Amino acid sequence: MIRKVRLFTPGPTPLLPAAQFAMAAADMHHRTPEFRALYKKVLAQLKVFVGTEGDVILLSSSGTGAMEAAVTNLTSPGDKVLVLTAGKFGERWTGLAKAFGCVPEVVSVPYGQTFDLAAVKKALENAELKAVFVQATETSTAVRHDLEAIAKLVHAAPGKPLLIVDGITGLGTTHFDVDAWGIDVLIGGSQKAVMIPPGLAYLSVSERAWAAMETSKNPRYYFDLRKERKNAVNGETAYTPAVALVAALGAALDYIAGQAGGDLAKGREALVNNAEKNAEATRAALLKMGFTLFAPSAPAAAATAVAVPEGMDSGDVVKALKTRFAAVIANGQGEMKGKIFRVAHLGFFDYLDTVALIAAMEHIAKDTLKLPVEYGAAVAEAQKIFARG
Ligand SMILES: *Cc1c(COP(=O)(O)O)cnc(C)c1O
Repeated sequence: MIRKVRLFTPGPTPLLPAAQFAMAAADMHHRTPEFRALYKKVLAQLKVFVGTEGDVILLSSSGTGAMEAAVTNLTSPGDKVLVLTAGKFGERWTGLAKAFGCVPEVVSVPYGQTFDLAAVKKALENAELKAVFVQATETSTAVRHDLEAIAKLVHAAPGKPLLIVDGITGLGTTHFDVDAWGIDVLIGGSQKAVMIPPGLAYLSVSERAWAAMETSKNPRYYFDLRKERKNAVNGETAYTPAVALVAALGAALDYIAGQAGGDLAKGREALVNNAEKNAEATRAALLKMGFTLFAPSAPAAAATAVAVPEGMDSGDVVKALKTRFAAVIANGQGEMKGKIFRVAHLGFFDYLDTVALIAAMEHIAKDTLKLPVEYGAAVAEAQKIFARG
């Protein structure tokens, strides 16, 4: 039988055809009126997509580049910072902070869990903290954090630290109110919910964060946010941007707006709700097959992490889906490898993608893992979720 390659990975995610066409057609120089018009349009759209009145800066890098930019632009060597970590991406904040001479205090929870807010509050009592680093959704465990509650605690903290959020899989899967919650930096990446290839990162920057950059002392050159902000006013970038990806991003944001009659803010809400629905259906179906959820108390809509029964290897599920159905899901990262697999819902996924994956997963659960699966039972669980509207 024909097998179509389908990505179900939490980045890179499936590509939007309209964005691919826009990329192919983007044969332009960046120091031209055409590019300046495109860049200004995309930056304006990004502000709506992120949901802020403040600036959004676009960088030609993967998401980690914007994480590094947040650290280098906003901290100085010797700064005490707080890292809230619940997985591999939280650990990346600790690594970045150390790499640039910060002294991180770390609040961590076991993989699959979210933070105890009392512990966060306690750690925030340190009046010397300059910044707090956290994920909105920890993609390695598929956990969603209660960012609104965390933001409240951060703003009540005596040191008035900046709040810097890796929303790379949170954007487009979670409702944020960036300005009202006082998120100083919120970071996104192109290969996640905005349905285009890897290579762009974007971040909102609050007025407080711009002010902090005036005195922060860590070195920065390529990722100098103040330089990018100055250029962006004229539709310019400091260096050669990933022109084709900018065109793709514009087309993708048009598509997202098109989901709500041209209203991008409403289209973003629809995109979040779409991820929620696919995630809910996937959880119900996988539970029915006999799997357990890895993050049952705070599951993300971006992806679902699933634990395989004791003694089984999640890598076998990943491999069997690939060889039998050309469907690509993600194994666990680091210590979670072999124990969990992850299925994405962020971006360009629809009902048919989800039920098809569940149907394929029934075959794998039955044939590869020898679970007592009855064909159609898990699919029906997903159908019930969708039928509820
Ligand atoms: C994908 C991802 C990143 C960025 O990784 P890059 O490979 O640099 O794009 C960072 N944080 C989270 C939570 C992610 O899901």
